[in-house]
Amino acid sequence: MKKLLCIIPIMIVLLLSSCADKTNNSGKATVYTSFYAVSDFTKTVAGDLVDVINLMPQGMEPHDFEPTATDISKLTKSDLFIYNGGGIDDWADSIIDTLPDTVAVTRLYDTENTDPHTWLSFKNAYAELNTICNALSDIEPQNKAVFEANRDSYIKKLEELENEYKNAGFGGLKMFVTHGAYGYLCEELGIEQVALEGISGESDPSPAQVAQVVDDIKKSGAKCIFYEPLEGDKTAQAVANEAGVIALPLSTFEADDENRDYYTVMSENLEQMKKGLK
Ligand SMILES: [Zn+2]
Repeated sequence: MKKLLCIIPIMIVLLLSSCADKTNNSGKATVYTSFYAVSDFTKTVAGDLVDVINLMPQGMEPHDFEPTATDISKLTKSDLFIYNGGGIDDWADSIIDTLPDTVAVTRLYDTENTDPHTWLSFKNAYAELNTICNALSDIEPQNKAVFEANRDSYIKKLEELENEYKNAGFGGLKMFVTHGAYGYLCEELGIEQVALEGISGESDPSPAQVAQVVDDIKKSGAKCIFYEPLEGDKTAQAVANEAGVIALPLSTFEADDENRDYYTVMSENLEQMKKGLK
């Protein structure tokens, strides 16, 4: 009897540690994502069947993020890690080889893109939702039908919004922005994006770049320059004042202080673009 009492606690510990390997306290699989857009898409497809955790602190933009040792330690205990690829979360490429085999890894883009802001195009967003759906179905095959239904209904909703964008008559217009994140969206809509800071959004524009954009805005007859709300409107306001136009916010969906989903943010972006472009 004494011997058996000794074995039972060991068995409980083993049982608990094996549970901890695959699931968390809620009994659900744990999926980590590299930044906000990937996290939001994953939550949309997963619903409440999976615990989705964004590795990046809320409100932080991904271009200059580096994970801490604690972040990486958390990742090693997860079931799945999803990241974008294409230059927005390069740190992930260097850590995936260090993760144990128990962690599945999905990279949404295999190629190195010159512009990493893939998710801002509707077509890319559909493809990303689909890849995420497949990745979740691989780790939770019993929930595949629910993931697929979540993906399908969301894409349907987005397709209606995409039509609103297409019917807004933006084709042939020039769109001035501080951070050049909207290249794929602009391409889909036939808009020419002119970016003050380039695609990395990191460096401050030189006085010569500012002067060039001010000149370009005046010549084009545009009435607005858009800025990323998380970056603030200081640069955009300075350009707007000099060019005699207005500055409006336009989200890159790289992060969101209010935890809004992609559909909500893209709907608001559409309203801002109608105000600023037409
Ligand atoms: Zn960016």
